[in-house]
Order: sequence, then C-alpha cells, then structure tokens
Amino acid sequence: MQIASNKAVTIHYTLKDDEGNVLDSSDGREPLTYLHGGGNIVPGLEAALEGKGEGDAIQATLTPDQAYGQRDEANVRNIPVRKLQDGKPKVGMRYRVQTPDGYEVALVTAVRGDYATVDGNHPLAGKTLHFDVKVVGVREATAEELEHGHVHGPGGHH
Ligand SMILES: [Zn+2]
Repeated sequence: MQIASNKAVTIHYTLKDDEGNVLDSSDGREPLTYLHGGGNIVPGLEAALEGKGEGDAIQATLTPDQAYGQRDEANVRNIPVRKLQDGKPKVGMRYRVQTPDGYEVALVTAVRGDYATVDGNHPLAGKTLHFDVKVVGVREATAEELEHGHVHGPGGHH
C-alpha cells in the first residue's frame, strides 16, 4: 500500500540540523504513527513521503518554509517579569504569554532587572532540517481516525 491522503503511516525517523546534530529521533522508542494528508507532520516531510510504501527509506532536506517556517523577530519581546506566571523567570524556562495574536508558548532567552526577553518562535523555525525516514507500515485509517484528524492505537492518540 502506498502512502496517500487518509492513510495511517508508521515511520521511524531521525531529524538532524545542518551541523549533523540529532534534534529528535524515534530510535529506541515506538515508531511514530500519523494520519497522512492532515498536516500532522511538517509539509515538506509529508510531500517527501507521498507515494512511498512499507520498507522504503528516504532522506529529505527541508528548507524552513517546508518545515517550521522562518523566524519572526516580532515574536521576540521584552516583557515585565511580573507579567510572567510566577514572576521568577530564568533563561531556558517556557511560559504561556499573551500577545496581540493570542496566547503562545515563549522561551525566556534573557532576564535583565525587571524585564525578561521571551522568544515565541518555534524552536526549529528558521532551520534547515535533514530527515532520515524509514516507512514501517501503511494502513487505511479508520472512520473514527478520519473524523478526529489523527490516528489511534500504538504510536497515536488515546
Ligand atoms: Zn481521536
């Protein structure tokens, strides 16, 4: 069976940055199962897997536009420390912060006096990503999975 929209696809993957550092991997874990065609994985990887089948291995290099998008410096803000939940931010902590576009999770990148610098960009925004993927299985998604927009069972939700 080939990978196409509305198939439940199981993959093992390793994700590296341009320097070859491993950013994420399913090595030693359960493989990932996702619903193809639903935007559950980054668009470039979904496109690279289209038409592949069980046992296929692919390598895909994704530009930021095919992955988590470009960094937007407007998402880096200086906000008063007292506006963060516990008022004691440290570099590396993540907070839910209110922005003009709603809430986002932001990473504290600096603390100076009464102000903290928080970065709301996705951690992988602006990065070129290198995926090594092995297709472990492809099956029809169930009616319930299609209705929910995600897979159930091992490697999936619930
Ligand atoms: Zn569900």
